Amino acid sequence: MDFQQVFGKPPETQASAPGRVNLLGEHTDYNDGFVLPTAIPQGTTVQLGFSSDSQHHFYSENLNEQVSILDINHTPSGFASYIFGCIEVLQKAGYTIPPLCVYVKSSVPMGSGLSSSAALEVATLRALRQLLNLPINDLEIAQFAQQAEIQYAGVQCGIMDQMASSLADTEHILFLDTRTLERRVMPLPEKAEILVIDSGVPRTLASSGYNQRRAECEEAARSLGVKALRDITDVNVIKALAEPLQRRARHVVTENNRVLEVLQGVTSERFGELMNASHVSLRDDYEVSVPALDTLVEIIQKTEGVFGARLTGAGFGGASVALVRSGQSKGIATHVLEQYNQAGYNGQILVPSLGLSDAA
Ligand code: ADP
Ligand code: MG
Repeated sequence: MDFQQVFGKPPETQASAPGRVNLLGEHTDYNDGFVLPTAIPQGTTVQLGFSSDSQHHFYSENLNEQVSILDINHTPSGFASYIFGCIEVLQKAGYTIPPLCVYVKSSVPMGSGLSSSAALEVATLRALRQLLNLPINDLEIAQFAQQAEIQYAGVQCGIMDQMASSLADTEHILFLDTRTLERRVMPLPEKAEILVIDSGVPRTLASSGYNQRRAECEEAARSLGVKALRDITDVNVIKALAEPLQRRARHVVTENNRVLEVLQGVTSERFGELMNASHVSLRDDYEVSVPALDTLVEIIQKTEGVFGARLTGAGFGGASVALVRSGQSKGIATHVLEQYNQAGYNGQILVPSLGLSDAA
């Protein structure tokens, strides 16, 4: 069903936004540190029209689900909360949003760590900006999107996903200082492209493990007398910490330094080495990998045409990301998955998408 079939008239406008993958800078955001995401080819498109009654109506093609907002004082649940949140944060900022018909379609896999949620928010806000001529810039779109996700979808997220979706594209990576929001858009390393393969292992322990790591980092920062681990650049300083805090802090400090090295300008080969080093650090110091991800990353790293690979996202399962030679990602993925799945796993390629079209 398209917009016309759902709402009985064509849309007034539409806008799109991409999902994202983080290339380097993992578990650094809640330490006030640095991240380096890029946009993926898959995206979300939001079409808007004016509602003919006094209610908002939201439809998701992916879920084949329609939600009408009967009471604007009551936040809806599920996918509608993200769209409702975008509308509400704009209203709170002083913009008047009329009752709308909203149609969503997406090629970003949902819940796979490629940030379909940020793509949905940023596409919604872009479409609203266009429809109503709102004087908001791309940075503000990212900030409104984050507020919508925290306040209305109830997810305590950082701002990386929304910044990446709003400011990066598939040709560029976004360097972001999560403390100051200083940022720089840089080209992808030369003659390289991105490959994302899901391990097929669900992130079951992810939330408890994540909270524990956050607490450990806070404790480490407190012991060292700094506001956040971002304030340490010399690994020698953390030797004063007891284990496991020392290892946790070492990951954060070395990971931040890896991102800062990329900012100086590096070759694809060096970028790959930094990704490999990030994986070792996440596995041994931060202890957020699992055997499946280690196996997958090792197979990728040994494959011809690969610059480097590591787990991406919070870990405990989920996906891997690799930097590979341009034009070779699909061939590499086929080779990798053959070996990986032979070991009894159920891996699958997420980026590039194997579908006919990437744009939603
Ligand atoms: P991720 O952002 O990693 O994909 P999240 O759990 O943060 O995972 O966000 C996924 C949620 O975002 C979905 O459960 C759904 O509520 C919402 N969402 C994202 N894209 C769509 C879409 N195309 N249609 C409906 N809901 C969507
Ligand atoms: Mg998300």
